[in-house]
Amino acid sequence: MAKRRYIIHYDSTTCLKENHSSKKYSSNYFEENYFEDNTNYFQEACEDQLDSLLIRYGLAQRAMNREPIKHLGLPKKGKTKVRKTLPVTPKLIIFNKSIMAKHPDIELNNARVFTSILDMIFSLKTDEDCRNHLEKIRWNGEPICPKCGSQRPDHYRINTRGQYRGRYKCKDCYLPFSVTIGTIFEQSPIPLNKWFYAIFMFSSHKKGISSKQLARDIQITQKSAWFMLSKIRNSFAVKTDFQFEGIVQMDETYVGGKNLNKIKGKRISKTQGRSLKTKTPVFGMVNEGIVYAEVVKNTKGKTLGTIVRDKVTPGSTVVTDGWPAYRQLSDDYQHMVIPHNRDIFKLGSYHTNSIEGFWSLLKRGIFGIYHSVSPKHLHKYCDEFAFRYNTRHMGEGERFNMALINSDERIMYKELIAEKQ
Ligand SMILES: [Zn+2]
Repeated sequence: MAKRRYIIHYDSTTCLKENHSSKKYSSNYFEENYFEDNTNYFQEACEDQLDSLLIRYGLAQRAMNREPIKHLGLPKKGKTKVRKTLPVTPKLIIFNKSIMAKHPDIELNNARVFTSILDMIFSLKTDEDCRNHLEKIRWNGEPICPKCGSQRPDHYRINTRGQYRGRYKCKDCYLPFSVTIGTIFEQSPIPLNKWFYAIFMFSSHKKGISSKQLARDIQITQKSAWFMLSKIRNSFAVKTDFQFEGIVQMDETYVGGKNLNKIKGKRISKTQGRSLKTKTPVFGMVNEGIVYAEVVKNTKGKTLGTIVRDKVTPGSTVVTDGWPAYRQLSDDYQHMVIPHNRDIFKLGSYHTNSIEGFWSLLKRGIFGIYHSVSPKHLHKYCDEFAFRYNTRHMGEGERFNMALINSDERIMYKELIAEKQ
C-alpha cells in the first residue's frame, strides 16, 4: 500500500518500533496526517528520531553533521498541470487583433480555421465534432473545471446511457461539467451544429441575418431563431474599458423614424435632421480602424463631452464636423473641424469618412435586414455592427472562432425580453 511504502521510504520503520508506546508518533498519527498537504510534522518526527538514535549509539558527531533529510512532499496524485484561471478573457480581443495573438490564454493556433461555411459543415458533421472544436477553442483541448479552475487531461469522463456525450467530472472537486457550461449553448435543446451554422452566418454576413431567414435555413421556429440571434448578438457586446489615442474621428447619427414611411395620420411634424422626436441618437468614434458606437440620450455637448473625455486620452487629435456640441473639446484636445456645410470633407489628412462609412453600414443593415429596431435594443445592434467592422480584416473562419470565444456568456430569455431602455 502507498501509505506503507511512504513510511519505509523515510527509513524510519525502526523508529516507529522503538517508540511504539509513544502516542505522539504512533502509526495512527501518520495515517491521520498522511493526506494533509503539510508533511512537516512527519519529517520533523523522523529527523528527531534519527538524531536520538545516532546519539544513543555514540554517533553524536555524526548527528551534528547530518544533512537534513530532503523534503519529499506528498506523492503527486497524477497531477500534470493545474491552471487556476479560466482560459478566456473574451471581450478584450475585439479591439485589437495583435492583442489577441499575444494573449497568453488564447491559443487559436490549435483550433481549425475554416475557409468557408461549406468547409465547416463538412468538417463538423456531428454533435461530437462540434463539441471537440469548442473544447479546442475554450480549453485548448484540455478540460478545465468551471468551479475550481483545474485543467488536466484526465478528468473523469461520464457516460450517459452507455455513451459518452462530452460530460466530465472534475478530478479535484468532483463537479460534473461539460464544455457548454456558462456559454450561450448551455442547456439549449438546439444541437450544436445548428448553433454553429447560425454563428457562422451571423458573423460572416456583412449585414447579419434575420430570424425569419435563419428559421427557414435550419428548420426551427422563428421564436427560437430570434432567441438564438439575440444570444449571439449579446455575446458580441463590446468591452468598454479602453482608451483611444492619436487621431480619433467622431460623429453622431440618428436612427429610425422616417416620416415618409408613415401613414398620414401618424406623421409627426418637424422631425427632419437632428430632431429626436422619432429618432434615437447614436454617437461613434473611430481610431486606427477600430470603431466604438454608443446609444446616447441626446447629442448635447455635456453628454458627448463626458463620453469623449472618458474614452480618449487627453492631448489626442479629435476630428469632428461643425456640430456646436463639439466646440468644448478644443480645451482638452487638438480639435480639427471639417466644415461639411461648406462642402469640405477633407482638410489635409483629416476627415470623418471612416465613421460615416460605419454609419452607412449600420443604417443599411438595420433598414435592409432587420427592417426596424426598437430603441431599447439598438445598442446591441451597434455592438453587432461594430464587431463585424472591427474584425473586417479577418478571414471568415477566424471571425467564426472569435465569435465562439466570445460565446461564454449565458443569458436567459426573460432577461432578453425584459430589458428596459
Ligand atoms: Zn473542479
